Amino acid sequence: MLFDKHAITYYSLAMNLMDVLSSAQESQQKVYLAGPCSAESYDQLRSCAQFLQGKAQALRVGVWKPRSRPGEFEGYGEKALEWIYQLKMEFPNLPVLIEIATPAHLEKAMDYGIDGFWVGARTTSNPFMMDELASSLAGVQKLVLVKNPIAADLGLWLGAVERLEKKLSARYVAAIHRGFCVWGQSQYRNHPFWELALEFRKQRPEGLFYCDPSHMAGRRNLVFELACCAGQLDYDGMMVEVHPRPQIALSDSKQQLSFTDYELLMQSLTGQQKIKNSQEELSHLRALIDQCDSQLIANLRSRFHLIESIAQLKKKTGIQWFQADRYQQMMAKRCKEADSCLSEDFLTEIFNLIHSQSVKWQALAVSNHQQGQDKKPANTHWVDRESH
Ligand code: PEP
Ligand code: MN
Repeated sequence: MLFDKHAITYYSLAMNLMDVLSSAQESQQKVYLAGPCSAESYDQLRSCAQFLQGKAQALRVGVWKPRSRPGEFEGYGEKALEWIYQLKMEFPNLPVLIEIATPAHLEKAMDYGIDGFWVGARTTSNPFMMDELASSLAGVQKLVLVKNPIAADLGLWLGAVERLEKKLSARYVAAIHRGFCVWGQSQYRNHPFWELALEFRKQRPEGLFYCDPSHMAGRRNLVFELACCAGQLDYDGMMVEVHPRPQIALSDSKQQLSFTDYELLMQSLTGQQKIKNSQEELSHLRALIDQCDSQLIANLRSRFHLIESIAQLKKKTGIQWFQADRYQQMMAKRCKEADSCLSEDFLTEIFNLIHSQSVKWQALAVSNHQQGQDKKPANTHWVDRESH
């Protein structure tokens, strides 16, 4: 049985991660889950939380590190959970996410009131582990992010998500694209294979979907270009590794961003987002202009049909072609509608043009009526001065 021994104090203070994500989604804001690869000390976490407050929606931090080779730094485990618990007392508005790989990790994490979890690439690759994790997560109402498996295997990734969704409501299950391991063909630590991520999104359009450019890049200087690329795509946000002193980090030191780098990245992503939003707004406004112009053309066409009827009526009843006062009255009436947007000069010019074309059209209509539909009048200038 799981129990959250600190829950009472902590939950009364903390910002709920699911609420944070829902409100970001509603306001179409990208979400940033940022923080160090591993928790290394209380001071390191505190410095990250202090810096990231207001610059990220949640703090990501590794507590148990799945290292490829034994003997490398494997995380501080429960000691790190204690730091996180302490940190949350001071920074209740910064939810914390950690990696879990086993039911035992989940149980410990729940004890310390961790807000959400991610399942790492190595765990996602193993269906047995996913089933075990899924069973232990049954009834847990917290976000679980599923990183793509090490290999570029779309089925395995979707399968891991589906295994969780058997036990957890889909709203708690999200995904992270962190790139795929390939031998010797890529400048990246994990090749993005963007098309595979697009296919994942297509198959799971509703779920939250983030990009992790840090684990794709493997090197600090590549994080920028990958993050900017991801910024153009349809992700709900990003997971980025940030460390107060990346050079001395105990894991993934080559790819973690310094605070200054992170700030610069945020600036370029915000700039990029503004351009994207402006482009979307521009397309929307242009579509409205297209609609306006179509209406304008339809109205002009209706006007010319009316002109044709007037021409027939004048012809039939012998009403005089020339009614000088009508033109003047019409122009005066149109110009009365002038304002700062549509000036009198502009309205005069446009209605002169319409009127002159209407007069030509009237002559053509009458002439066709007299001479048969296929015969056009030799000269329509004679009516140019006339009014309809
Ligand atoms: C991490 O996020 O620190 C991590 C180990 O991720 P991945 O599973 O993508 O390698
Ligand atoms: Mn890492």
